[in-house]
Amino acid sequence: SLTGKTAVITGSNSGIGLGIAWELARAGADVVLNSFTDNDEDHALAREIADTTGVTARYIQADMSKGDQCRDLIAKAGACDILVNNAGIQHVAPIDEFPVEKWDAIIAINMNSAFHTTAAALPVMRAAGWGRVINIASAHGLTASPYKAAYIAAKHGVVGMTKTVALETAQEQITANAICPGYVLTPLVEAQIPDTAKKYDMSEDEVKKKVILERQPSKEFATVEQLGGTTVFLCSDAAAQITGTTISVDGGWTAL
Ligand code: NAD
Repeated sequence: SLTGKTAVITGSNSGIGLGIAWELARAGADVVLNSFTDNDEDHALAREIADTTGVTARYIQADMSKGDQCRDLIAKAGACDILVNNAGIQHVAPIDEFPVEKWDAIIAINMNSAFHTTAAALPVMRAAGWGRVINIASAHGLTASPYKAAYIAAKHGVVGMTKTVALETAQEQITANAICPGYVLTPLVEAQIPDTAKKYDMSEDEVKKKVILERQPSKEFATVEQLGGTTVFLCSDAAAQITGTTISVDGGWTAL
């Protein structure tokens, strides 16, 4: 059980981050939710987790595109035994047309934020004598697709940084790993469906099966609960010697 541990999950008012927060809470961890907004609905998500599972759950606003706010998030959390770097955005465009501000935002949110939060969290984990750094990378941290240059650069970067963090903490009770999901049906993926449907003159259902899941041999989306379960596993004693590596949850994508 993760009772007594505090988990900070970046970008967790939606999708995979929220699913991971739920599973960590069900496993007994206190959780800190985060995004860049500060709405009643954000805080209500934390209340719902607390009321359902009995753990302490808080929502802390911080913009993961800003290094100082990444570091502040860890300071405000007050504890951080488990750090899940999950915040991420996507933009799809050919590289010669890729908007510079989108490139910068994706590198900042999807990669640099993990540097800042990890830098702030490691001293806290060392003081506690235990820690888990779990970076939500992607199948696109291991392979590429056209038109996603910034995302793929950022996710490959995260996988590389994960290995370095693992080496720097190898002789401590701290591990660092990256989870590499294939496609998960979250708002991030759903946002890509209408445009793709138009582009290929297909129904949205056809887009899901023939375009999005084209490279996912299982032809099924992974679920946020499965990613939460993988995260909980990486926090378990069984995973204490798993460090500096990636776990794919991609229905066979990277086996192709
Ligand atoms: P999502 O859009 O549902 O969630 C993204 C989260 O990041 C949201 O909570 C959002 O508020 C937050 N976020 C965005 N910008 C932020 C900022 N500046 N500061 C703080 N938070 C910010 O998408 P998702 O699919 O749940 O994606 C979560 C992670 O999983 C991302 O890193 C994504 O790259 C990765 N991933 C997703 C898939 C997939 O198929 N959905 C596959 C592989 C990897």
